[in-house]
Amino acid sequence: MEEKKEKSKAEQLAAKLLFKSKNAYETMSADEIKAAYDYCEDYKKFLDGGKTERECVKEAVKLLGANGFKPYALGDAVEVGGKYYYDNHAKSLVAFVIGTESLENGINLSAAHIDSPRTDLKQHPIYEADGMCFFKTHYYGGIKKYQWTTIPLALHGVITKADGETIDFCVGEDDGDPIFYIDDLLPHLAQDQMRKSLADGITGEQLNVLIGSRPFEEKTSEAVKLNILSILNEKYGITEADFMSAEICAVPAVKARDVGFDRSMISSYGHDDRVCAYPSLTALMTLDKPAHTAMAVLADKEEIGSEGNSGMQCEVFFDIIAALSNYFGVNDAKVRLNSKCLSADVNAAFDPNFPEVNERRNACFLNYGVVVTKFTGSRGKGGSNDASAEFMGYVRNLLDAAGVVWQTSELGKVDQGGGGTVAKYISQRNIDTVDIGVPVISMHAPYEVVAKTDVYQTHKALEAFFKA
Ligand code: MN
Ligand code: MN
Repeated sequence: MEEKKEKSKAEQLAAKLLFKSKNAYETMSADEIKAAYDYCEDYKKFLDGGKTERECVKEAVKLLGANGFKPYALGDAVEVGGKYYYDNHAKSLVAFVIGTESLENGINLSAAHIDSPRTDLKQHPIYEADGMCFFKTHYYGGIKKYQWTTIPLALHGVITKADGETIDFCVGEDDGDPIFYIDDLLPHLAQDQMRKSLADGITGEQLNVLIGSRPFEEKTSEAVKLNILSILNEKYGITEADFMSAEICAVPAVKARDVGFDRSMISSYGHDDRVCAYPSLTALMTLDKPAHTAMAVLADKEEIGSEGNSGMQCEVFFDIIAALSNYFGVNDAKVRLNSKCLSADVNAAFDPNFPEVNERRNACFLNYGVVVTKFTGSRGKGGSNDASAEFMGYVRNLLDAAGVVWQTSELGKVDQGGGGTVAKYISQRNIDTVDIGVPVISMHAPYEVVAKTDVYQTHKALEAFFKA
């Protein structure tokens, strides 16, 4: 008979006292892993359907509409259990479900963003040089410019014509479409360029998008440009002046794809922050008469500081809370005081190819679950919402009770750099807020990578939060 070996005192103590994060594959059942992979099939469709904030709003409205959500306007009557969405200038969105408890008990709020780094056309974009025709661009958000050269690009956006009509514009996504391209120098002639730093090797003014090379049939000056404008005029009824009232973005013309022989990861443009926006929506759509009113904000302009009337600094998000408070005859300040927010944004996953930018004990790893980021910021937490111990305690208990695989992380080691999220713009309204989200490899690159289990655990975390 085999003798059962007693655990030593040290082993017992270690089990009780020491903390060790867990890989999702150690804790998730086979069924749950399958559910995560299935979940990500729909996430990939969401990614491919929405590459700009405007397209994400449309995709979200489609999903919400199919799940019983109705349009809401400021001041509208609402009912308990009712599901609503507010479309803000077609660029940001607030969706909510009215809870059974008094609104004064607070709202469970999530906030993700749906804009991603890219390069935008300038207002006088089109020019011809040496028989080639280009669009001038101004990049949007934090990019490593050299990464945006020699990849297939699609153009997405809207154009408001002289008569006031606004048309959608999207070329480069269908298999039969042409794509667009930012060129780079061949290595043979790049001796001088290769001696420059990565920051200077490609400059902002070199991010010019190649759009044509065939001259107009009749001899004229700038014949290639004229030919392109004639094609655009025929197809869209636009003239060169119409670009002054257009918003057109060059984004990678790539689709979301599985990564790895095991298909455990997804590569896509714009995981940051659709990888949190999508779980916010799917979590909200699981609700049926929740106790607390639940609200998911999908904000624009996070990548350039949450500015403007579609960014998180815009009053409208708080106007909606005020309008609902007014409708229910409760104090708006008390509603915010008792509200909680998970600011749903990505963090930088530890990358073994660049270990020097992280402090391992306080970094997040692929497949270790949703990341709770107590603080972001840079140079001594500057510009950060720094969540309280009490709120961290609340989130910790919530996630543990719901069986969510989760981890904590900072954004890179001390004084390595840093960044921010929408968290600070919500917490300054007296709402307890902490960042949670998905670890991303190669964040802000044209093609970013996430792990499927982490995406699913983020949905699970947000669902538990909305249902709390
Ligand atoms: Mn982000
Ligand atoms: Mn970002």
